[in-house]
Amino acid sequence: MRFVDTRLTAVWDKVQSHERLSRDDGVLLFETDDLLGLGRLADHVKTRRHGARVHFVINRYINPTNVCVLSCKFCDFARKPGQAGAFENTIEDVLGMIRDGVREVHIVGGHHPDWPFEYFERMIQAVHVGRPEVQIKAFTAAEIDYFWRRWKIEPKESLARLKAAGLHAMPGGGAEIFSKRVARALAYTGKADADRWCEIHGIAHSLGLPTNATMLYGHIETKAERVDHLLRLRAQQDISGGFLTFIPLVYQVGDTKLVPRQTPPTDALRTIAASRLLLDNFPHVEAYWVMTGEQTASIGLHFGADDVNGTLEDEKIAHMARAESPAGLAREQLLRMIRDAGKVPVERDALYNVLRVWN
Ligand code: SF4
Repeated sequence: MRFVDTRLTAVWDKVQSHERLSRDDGVLLFETDDLLGLGRLADHVKTRRHGARVHFVINRYINPTNVCVLSCKFCDFARKPGQAGAFENTIEDVLGMIRDGVREVHIVGGHHPDWPFEYFERMIQAVHVGRPEVQIKAFTAAEIDYFWRRWKIEPKESLARLKAAGLHAMPGGGAEIFSKRVARALAYTGKADADRWCEIHGIAHSLGLPTNATMLYGHIETKAERVDHLLRLRAQQDISGGFLTFIPLVYQVGDTKLVPRQTPPTDALRTIAASRLLLDNFPHVEAYWVMTGEQTASIGLHFGADDVNGTLEDEKIAHMARAESPAGLAREQLLRMIRDAGKVPVERDALYNVLRVWN
């Protein structure tokens, strides 16, 4: 490969010889003007792993509640008890949200001040018994940590009990940016920090629960902080090995307005590509269409992404922050998004078992 930015040649040499990229390489990936060169590098790595395949799942988002004791400054989703827009769903409500054909439910919510851990345990059990064909991906590390802060249930115990109740995997949320500076500025010091977030994912992995990882970017973080976040995830994966997918999350300006406008699509493509190149031990990197928009996600399939998440029926967190993407896509629209990029859609379950290759 030849590059407009010749500094990328050294990265290409490392990529070809499967050599791990350094922190300086990571900073270069976020700084280079050669976006297309960066994309070709990441696409090479993606294709080496997955060929033309791009994964998706028929899934349903469920937020049992948006009532939360915290007030993270980037969050448009949370409400205080009794505040307009606050909602609390019963277990029956949750069961009623799952229609036939769904393979995965993604259950996350606010840090409710009163709901005991046992309520969530019963919820998982009810979904598992009522819908045994559905895989349950639920509770961010921040929520698992909150069960300790509020109810003094150690993560090892809560995760073991939730697994016994029917939990299959954990989502990757709650990581935000692993930077104490940003955590202080955006008032999320009251939840799991980088060490605790990684510790909880390590515990999940040791219990046989695969998990995902995320990074919320496009607000006040620096490019170096993005690189450090990714390297911290890579180090944790070296230790515990249970991460399936990395999902870069574009900050939605919404009503929180930490920055005047959403980071541009070129930044989303750059971040997908840099993630694919730095996270050499992560099986999958996602183009999360809910936050990037469908068109950018489709182009992201040429910048290192091999997954578009799924139909995401009734996604609320990004849409309460005024994300402009549709609130859920039908399978046919996902197939079109993937095929428009010239890729082969592969329908999967929550654990990446292949259900159908849509040739
Ligand atoms: S990001 Fe999560 S913990 Fe923070 S306020 Fe929103 S719901 Fe609560």
